[in-house]
Amino acid sequence: MYQRQNAIQRRKKKKAPRCLGKLLLILLWVAAAFFMGRAVGKAEKYYGIVEYQPEEFGEQGLEDDLGGDEAEALILVNKENPLPDDYEVELVTLPDRVHKGASQAYEPLCEMLNAGRREGLAFEVCSAYRDIERQRQLFEEDVVALMARGYSYERAYEEVAKETMPPGCSEHSTGLAFDIVALDYQLLDAGQERTEENIWLREHCAEYGFILRYPKDKEDITQISYESWHFRYVGEKAAKEIMERGITLEEYLKDI
Ligand SMILES: [Zn+2]
Repeated sequence: MYQRQNAIQRRKKKKAPRCLGKLLLILLWVAAAFFMGRAVGKAEKYYGIVEYQPEEFGEQGLEDDLGGDEAEALILVNKENPLPDDYEVELVTLPDRVHKGASQAYEPLCEMLNAGRREGLAFEVCSAYRDIERQRQLFEEDVVALMARGYSYERAYEEVAKETMPPGCSEHSTGLAFDIVALDYQLLDAGQERTEENIWLREHCAEYGFILRYPKDKEDITQISYESWHFRYVGEKAAKEIMERGITLEEYLKDI
């Protein structure tokens, strides 16, 4: 009897370290899973694979009436129609936490990119809102550099304007324009239109209120060469008509 009790006690003693070992293993697994999750999260952020969920940013001015102001969404900005210096735009940070856009376009942009993601596509917003003041600085630096080489102000301005949009003339300063590229092809060149992402965007953008702002063969009207990646929010009604008729925002605004 005494011997049996001793044996049981011995077994119990042996069992204790085994339980501890199991516990440690479980803890290790939990820790590993936690850190792997964080690493994946970081990688996704780095590569811009972010689930576009407007709900996440509920505090940033996403009210029900957003998208309702049609007139604002139809603002025309080009070389002849610069934005006024005091143009104000309500900005929200995009889910990539890098770029900013007009609050009005935020939800439609997220919905569009999420819809594409559900089709297995991966996008990257590579340019969105651009500050007029910053643009003015860059532009003027270039003008001054040319003037230092003997150009008159007018000639320097004209020369710089061939490559860079004069301050206030870029649609990006409205917060309604977004350059969107394929995650695995981020060049702003002729190859972009052959990516699955760009083909899908051009086909579906109007459903979300976006248009391809600078189409092919419309350079004489837009004064901007074809940009397959530049999408502009104008609201659903205008977007559907513009994309269906294959016209530009300039032509649409003349008709209404
Ligand atoms: Zn652009």
